[in-house]
Amino acid sequence: MQTEALLIKNPVAVMSGRSGDNARLGQVDLRIRNGRIETIAPNLEPRADERVIDARSCVVYPGWVNTHHHLFQNLLKAVPSGINSDLQEWLAAVPYPRLARFTPDLARVAARLGLAELLLSGVTTCADHHYLYHAEGTTETGDLLFDEAASFGMRFVLCRGGALQAAGDHPGFSKVALKPETLDQMLADVERLKSRYHDAGDASMRRVVVAPTTPTFSLPPELLPEVARAARRMGLRLHTHLSETTRYVDFCKERFNKLPVEFVADHEWLGPDVWFAHLVHLQPSEIAMLAETGSGCSHCPVSNARLGSGIAPAPQMAAAGVPMSLAVDGVASNESGSMTNEAHFAWLVHRAAQGASATTVEEIIHWGSAGGAGVLGLDAVGTLEVGKAADFVLYDVSDLRFNGFHDVAVAPVTAGEPARVRYNVVNGRVVVDNGVIPGLDLEQLRYEAAEGVKLLLAD
Ligand SMILES: [Zn+2]
Repeated sequence: MQTEALLIKNPVAVMSGRSGDNARLGQVDLRIRNGRIETIAPNLEPRADERVIDARSCVVYPGWVNTHHHLFQNLLKAVPSGINSDLQEWLAAVPYPRLARFTPDLARVAARLGLAELLLSGVTTCADHHYLYHAEGTTETGDLLFDEAASFGMRFVLCRGGALQAAGDHPGFSKVALKPETLDQMLADVERLKSRYHDAGDASMRRVVVAPTTPTFSLPPELLPEVARAARRMGLRLHTHLSETTRYVDFCKERFNKLPVEFVADHEWLGPDVWFAHLVHLQPSEIAMLAETGSGCSHCPVSNARLGSGIAPAPQMAAAGVPMSLAVDGVASNESGSMTNEAHFAWLVHRAAQGASATTVEEIIHWGSAGGAGVLGLDAVGTLEVGKAADFVLYDVSDLRFNGFHDVAVAPVTAGEPARVRYNVVNGRVVVDNGVIPGLDLEQLRYEAAEGVKLLLAD
């Protein structure tokens, strides 16, 4: 699959991914060359070497940038022992007892299933927080994620997770008693991944990020600055979970006499090169610290609701200037890897809690595209502008349920799933073509997923 010369002709509407008055581009055509957007204008005439995509029944969105995922969890959806559990019980019941059972083959099937769902829901970039690492395990599962993402044509960021202590405070982890890596082991693998895959370019297809699983339970506090300094020496970003539940807050208060954001600030873990998943429980002073330092957020409202963790103060963070992005989180605590679904819920949940002016469709799209690219540092990604990377999706709005809209541009966010992605284009390459992922054997994938679930059934 090569990048093609493309002309997207006559879409019903185009959303840019930018905020405010620049969010809508109206009825314009898009010309794509060499992976970038060459022209945005009405009535472009096709050139002889161009593939023309008839977009008359479609609205164009910037590709979704999913900034926090756990692809291995695609074989752990709706595990009965964790379906009604809070985060702590769920960690102990669902992912942690099974971590060591993810062979490279199983991890590959899970990744394939997850990447396919992401592409079909309009995702063009995925950051995967991958923590299947322990002292006696293989590091191969990180590499195969890059292979699988490349085979689908997805822009991919590996957030290299893992733990440096078998924390007695973490019931899930202590139950399994996996031997944690040493700092040297973790950093040696990060170095290896960096030299093999990392591209610092503004439209990079491959990035590596340093991402211990949690700053509170995965490593002793004295190693946090060491990890941060090592990442910064290597020119890599930092990512982790933070303040997902009240338990994180209580733990930091009891153990360190600090709020979680104060705790990470004391350990060199704030800055424009850091973003955190969740940030559900925050004091106004913590929001101010995040904003002042440019530290970003992966907002995961569905997972937070599913686990009963709470509703993150996303509108307040955005208003304060915290870089915001959207993410589905692992599907073992979401049951869906659809960014369309995530955007729909993000649009709704803050309005339910705070009133109808809490979110706008345009802002949700901005968080989910340009915002995501911003926290990942992909400067040429996330908005539909001339010169930017050609990452966009065409939602088909001819389905019956989208008839009757006065403003069909908002349909995928306001009406949610099912919203068919007819085309998904990443870096100028068509990766979903007329609703189909070229070359993907769906029957084979279904079979392998069913076999994988059988292997993981027992607690
Ligand atoms: Zn997570």
